[in-house]
Order: sequence, then C-alpha cells, then structure tokens
Amino acid sequence: MKDIPTWIDEYHKGSRFGLNGKVLLKKNSKYQEILIIETDCYGKALMLDGCWMTSLRDEKYYHECLVHPALSSIDKKSHILIIGGGDGGTARECLKYSQVAKIDLVEIDEEVINVSKTFLQEIGSEAWNDKRLSIHIDDGVKWVEKTNDNFYDVIFIDCSDPSEFSNLLFTDSFYRECKRILTKKGILATQSESPESFKDIHIHILKSLNKIFKLSKTMYSFVPIYPSGIWSWTFASEEELNLSKLYYKEVMRIEKDCDVWNLNFQNAAFQMMPNKIVKELNSKNDQ
Ligand code: SAM
Repeated sequence: MKDIPTWIDEYHKGSRFGLNGKVLLKKNSKYQEILIIETDCYGKALMLDGCWMTSLRDEKYYHECLVHPALSSIDKKSHILIIGGGDGGTARECLKYSQVAKIDLVEIDEEVINVSKTFLQEIGSEAWNDKRLSIHIDDGVKWVEKTNDNFYDVIFIDCSDPSEFSNLLFTDSFYRECKRILTKKGILATQSESPESFKDIHIHILKSLNKIFKLSKTMYSFVPIYPSGIWSWTFASEEELNLSKLYYKEVMRIEKDCDVWNLNFQNAAFQMMPNKIVKELNSKNDQ
C-alpha cells in the first residue's frame, strides 16, 4: 500500500508551512525539541521546537547569504565568532577563506551539534574536522560578555527565532557588546528574520543596528522552508563594506562553488528592501 503522506508542519501566526516526510529522530534536549525529518523534496531537515531550521536542499540559500557578503568584503578576517550555527553550515562557508585562522562556534545546545553531525553531515561537512574550528557549548550572550575588546574581525549571529533562550541575542545591549568586541573594521552579520512573517522583530533588528553602528545594510533573499520564504541578513560595521581587492581571486573561486551567492546576486539583494519596511524604518516612533 502506498505510504500515507505524513505532513510535518511549522505553525506560524495562523498559517502553516509543511513538508511531507518521515520523522527519523525526535528528542528533547535541555533547551528544545529536536526533530530530524527525511522530507520528500528537501532531503533531511532539522526542526527545533516546531520551527524549520535547515534542510540539505536549501541550507546554502541561507548560509551563503549570511557569510559571503561579510567575508568577501573584509581584508583582516582571522578571528571569527559564530553564535548558534549548531548545524555547521556557517562554519563550513567561513572555512573556505584561507585567511580565517580561528573560529569560535558558541552553540547553547550540544544536542543540536550531535544530531547535525549524525544526520546532516553534508551541512557541517569537513568543518567539524578543521583544526581552525573550536566549539564551545555556551550561551552566546555570556560568551560575548566575557570577551575582550576588539577581539573578533567578524561576528555571525546564526541563531533561531526569538525564544526564552535566544531572546537576548536580539537586544540593543547585546549588539553594543558585539560592537565592543569587534575590531575597528570588524563586521557584525546576523540573520535578521523576515520582513513578512517576522516583521516586527525584523524592524527592531534593523532599527537597533542602524542606531548602534555607523553603517548597516540588509539583503533579502529566499529560504524556501522558512515561513513565507522571504528572509533577510543584516551587516553592520563602522566602515563601508567593499569587495576585498586583496583577496579578489579567492572570492571569485569561492563564488564559483556557491549555489545562490555571487556578487551580482548580492548587489541586487541589497536593493530589495520592501517599501513598507523603508517607510517603517523612517517612521519616527520607537527610533
Ligand atoms: N543555521 C540554520 C539555518 O540555516 O538557519 C539555523 C540556525 S542554527 C540551527 C540556530 C541555533 O541557535 C540553534 O542550534 C540554537 O540552539 C542556537 N541558539 C539559540 N539561542 C542561543 C544562544 N543564546 N547562544 C548560543 N546558541 C543559541
């Protein structure tokens, strides 16, 4: 008898985003419910507390957009901090750059790393064996608080949506602390939620980073398994992000390896702010 389709859904504000597939693992860690699903159309996928996080088929849509606008536009990129990122995708993309000497990956939930290494090896790939990667099981907020000034060249906030243990990663005080531990020319790169399905937190993130950093700019693209499909990444720094001339050849080589990101795509993606977001950012309230 044909398998009865099993739909696994993310429920979001009266809508739902479902994938058909089979649950391979369901467990509760100290922090969240973790599911691995073998989906019919996106391959193996990770779900945390009922939210789709990543899948083998669409993970590059997200990880390439988070990493390459930052690392292709900064010369000194030896020390990197990744907050969250327990599936290994952000680390994998960072390690493509030869100048990256050390990555601290600070993930609060060790179970996410263990499950990703077992079921989603393709995402972390060689990153898990790379000597430049150090894994720390800790709260990103605490990690940043105990870090010295001017320590990191780039900080990636690759976290889940706001929840009781990730909420603080979206606050002004946390962004100020990130700025303190960044080098003068350093870049903060964060997933900045969706202008559609998480509009309020999206606006909050953009307003905060606009207030705290001299420059911040947001790019928009699609992550098919996320609510509404449209997502954003914001890059904040004290200096203009310009394509690194020093490492142009390496950037071109990395670009060839990408599924979504390239410099033309990036330039267009930085021009895609929906007008309703532009108007809200310019509105006086809650400046
Ligand atoms: N990289 C994936 C993607 O493609 O969007 C999803 C992000 S990753 C799975 C999100 C991670 O952030 C989760 O593993 C979660 O445990 C972690 N996280 C949430 N709050 C955190 C915190 N305060 N400190 C460190 N990690 C945190």
